[in-house]
Amino acid sequence: MASSSPVKSIVTKGAENGILLVVHGGAGSRGKHSTPERQAQVEKDLQRALDAGYAKLEAGASAEDAVVAAIHVMEDATEFNAGHGAALTSDGIAQMDACLMGGDGEVGAVAGVHTVKNPIDAARAVKEQTKHVLFADPQDKELKDWGVETRDPSYFITEQRKQSLIEAQTNGDEWEKHGTIGAVARDEKGHLAAATSTGGITNQMHGRVGDTPLPGCGTYANDETVAVSGTGIGEAFMRTVACHQVSDRVKFAGQTPLESASATLDDIDAHRGDGGLIVLPAKGEGVIAYNSEMMNCGYKSPTASYVQG
Ligand code: ASP
Repeated sequence: MASSSPVKSIVTKGAENGILLVVHGGAGSRGKHSTPERQAQVEKDLQRALDAGYAKLEAGASAEDAVVAAIHVMEDATEFNAGHGAALTSDGIAQMDACLMGGDGEVGAVAGVHTVKNPIDAARAVKEQTKHVLFADPQDKELKDWGVETRDPSYFITEQRKQSLIEAQTNGDEWEKHGTIGAVARDEKGHLAAATSTGGITNQMHGRVGDTPLPGCGTYANDETVAVSGTGIGEAFMRTVACHQVSDRVKFAGQTPLESASATLDDIDAHRGDGGLIVLPAKGEGVIAYNSEMMNCGYKSPTASYVQG
């Protein structure tokens, strides 16, 4: 079970109204396998993700292009719980979820994919190539039609995740360790997007779907309010419709992004969860907030850059 702590927060600098990218690589507790070397690797990968996404924004690309570029880097990096290196289900497979949402309300998501190299590409295909919003375990034919790159299910499985699964099955569920990835961006036109990608929770039951692919729960964007991506115990994010709640608090209660993220994390805590949120408003600075022990995260603005692993 989660043990949450007081909300900690980071406010971005240098992006009053300009382009801005905020990313996360999961929130939770450090876990007994954390080492300074692995932390340094996480920080390097977060920086690479920020550089890839921010380069898109600087070149005038859309917020969607920026978040997808950042997510690709982290899905391909083994330290994060998404794509290559995703957490394993109780039957030992990587079963991944992803969602991409634009601030115009257009959204696509997939749940339970097990061959898609970059699950965010399948989410984007659903958004841009179908009239639907969410596909559960799309068939090979759909994936081929969408032009999505696939891999053998063994590609996603790393030694480290196999070890985590054995430990979870021997010692009880490993709720404390996360690694889901997310990104939120504001482009030069002031348009927002949010993307989240995950392998779920180690030792989750086959077929379990978390908050990540559910618009409003783990991922949400609205050009009038905020773009949000969450990480933590998905069941609590679903019970509280967390990312939409952040937007509603800004829109209807007039809260700042920081007040809104903090209040939503308190609600997540009240619903037996913990985790973190990255929030990027239509105007003003972004916010990273979490009530777990740690959160892998970072941001890049026209004059500032920050990562924490
Ligand atoms: N929220 C994800 C899920 O429940 C897990 C995580 O963020 O670590 O599937």
